[in-house]
Amino acid sequence: MVQTPINLTPKDYKSEVKPTWCPGCGDFGVLNAAFRGLASLKLSPDQTVVVSGIGCSSRFPHFMKTFGFHSVHGRALPVAQGLKMARPDLTVVAVGGDGDFFSIGAGHLVHAALRNIDITVVVMDNETYGLTKGQTSPTSPHGHVTKSTPYGLLASSFNPIATALTLNVSFVARGYSAKPKELATLIEQGMLHKGFSFIHALSPCPTFYNTFDAWDASVTAIPPDHDEHDRIKALSLAMDAEKQYMGIFYQEERPTMDQAAHQLVQQAKEFDIDKYMTRYA
Ligand code: SF4
Repeated sequence: MVQTPINLTPKDYKSEVKPTWCPGCGDFGVLNAAFRGLASLKLSPDQTVVVSGIGCSSRFPHFMKTFGFHSVHGRALPVAQGLKMARPDLTVVAVGGDGDFFSIGAGHLVHAALRNIDITVVVMDNETYGLTKGQTSPTSPHGHVTKSTPYGLLASSFNPIATALTLNVSFVARGYSAKPKELATLIEQGMLHKGFSFIHALSPCPTFYNTFDAWDASVTAIPPDHDEHDRIKALSLAMDAEKQYMGIFYQEERPTMDQAAHQLVQQAKEFDIDKYMTRYA
């Protein structure tokens, strides 16, 4: 993470491209939170890269004055991880929607969790495929009626926080786009965390599945006495069917793959072949 001494404000991360989201889209709140999170850490825009996949939320990099990479569907994580391995000096953030991360790119989530590469992921979850006009996504509730499921969704619903916790992700949090200040703090803490940080951002799609009222009623701050190092207790919060807890569920410091790989490279560079040959001659 490269900090700059210049006094940056949220507007310094805003590009000249006007967001093309529908009026009222939750993604505006997440964008606003990202601007604030980056500004509070004073991260240099030219040392920060935002990587996305495909979907409404994946237009995100266009609206930011950082470097960006609008990749292919479900592949934000491989691009972001490769980038961090090659350029450990950069701050790398991967963004996208529930389809990108929990359906098309779900397999990448498993391995990103195991590698614990130092990147931050913000998943904008609206429980629908907004870009293709409102079909069910992995997080849509059971029974959800759409044009593609006229008799209601027959599958059950994916639980992002419980999945991240059981995959051993080293930083797991949830925010809500209607509370951008709190979400900005979570993004900031995720970027400060050394390792793979996963931020589930509830971000309604008022055009195809308006969940604002439901989430206004169910989003609740994680109790202040919650122990962020207790994965089992975090899991019980994540499994609560009535409430959508907001805040940090879990965090732990453990070795990251980018650090370990760079140590190996350093060891290889310092390896003394003559000494080795003499010893085994
Ligand atoms: Fe946002 Fe939904 Fe419009 Fe997409 S379709 S921009 S998710 S409101």
